[in-house]
Amino acid sequence: TVVCLGELLIDFVPQSNGLPLSQVDTFHRAAGGAPANVAAAVAKLGGKSRFIGKVGRDPFGEFLRTALEEAGVEPALTITDDARTGLAFVSLREDGERDFVFFRSPAADMLLRKEDVEDKWLRDAAIFHFGSVSLIAEPCRTATLDAARRARAYGALVSYDPNVRLPLWTNADFARRTILDQLPFADLVKVSEDEIGFLYGGAGIEEGARLMLGLGPRCVVVTLGAAGCRVFTQTGDVTVPGVSVEAVDTTGAGDGFVGGLLWKLANAHIDASGLDETLAEPAFAVEALRFANAVGALATTKRGAIPALPARSEVERKLSG
Ligand code: ADP
Repeated sequence: TVVCLGELLIDFVPQSNGLPLSQVDTFHRAAGGAPANVAAAVAKLGGKSRFIGKVGRDPFGEFLRTALEEAGVEPALTITDDARTGLAFVSLREDGERDFVFFRSPAADMLLRKEDVEDKWLRDAAIFHFGSVSLIAEPCRTATLDAARRARAYGALVSYDPNVRLPLWTNADFARRTILDQLPFADLVKVSEDEIGFLYGGAGIEEGARLMLGLGPRCVVVTLGAAGCRVFTQTGDVTVPGVSVEAVDTTGAGDGFVGGLLWKLANAHIDASGLDETLAEPAFAVEALRFANAVGALATTKRGAIPALPARSEVERKLSG
């Protein structure tokens, strides 16, 4: 099972582009949060996935539980009376990019505690994936890192996607420090080209990836948008070009990419100790990353994150066509 933990919220998305939030009168509700999207991506590809998180005792929490189930993800949710379910109001700019206003004061997902995370949710994890804002504040930060440690003790490969969204990480220095502090917990780290620049003050991809590898991960995957991705291990690196598509909305591309890669690794029974060797082997690395690129690319061809995720047959068709 691929077990994902962290941010879970509803995005309220308007139907039309180019309106300021104050003028939007109808919203469409969409389940979101990067690790939840990753869990949905794995399920859509036919894999087993579980999402660990926290919601409020309110209809939005019920909505999210149902949305996870409908996406094929096993919900492992704790309900709290101390906060409401996380919400984000989105305005779509003319160019399709998104601006967010978050309801987090704090929201339930940030209140996940160590004790909430049941052992039975971690025991069967082949891969444990975490990331994004669950690391900003306590108690969620301790809960996340404790769960990563426990999952690893059960033999899981640990995957991390920092998912920097600066408006949310209001303090850039804090964000940078937090992310660098998490790297020793991860076997595999996925970052975008921009995140490398953010973390290492404009360093190039190669230099940034090497610095990250020096902190503990066995493998660093750098996504390059339409250009594909590059994977770095201690012994070398492989570049895998992107799959060409007509992109309409890039939301969820990175999460789809991670879901595709984790599904491939879980399916091939790759554990942490075999990761360097496997990804240093060009044939497997190219196959797995081409697949991940195709999932990411197809996720851009429809609106939204979870609804846009492709099934395995669509990915295979794209790769063979
Ligand atoms: P993030 O969403 O994390 O910023 P990227 O934008 O780099 O990451 O996208 C993640 C992956 O999705 C890329 O590595 C690529 O495989 C795929 N992808 C994203 N945008 C496109 C695009 N316009 N065309 C084809 N593939 C894309």
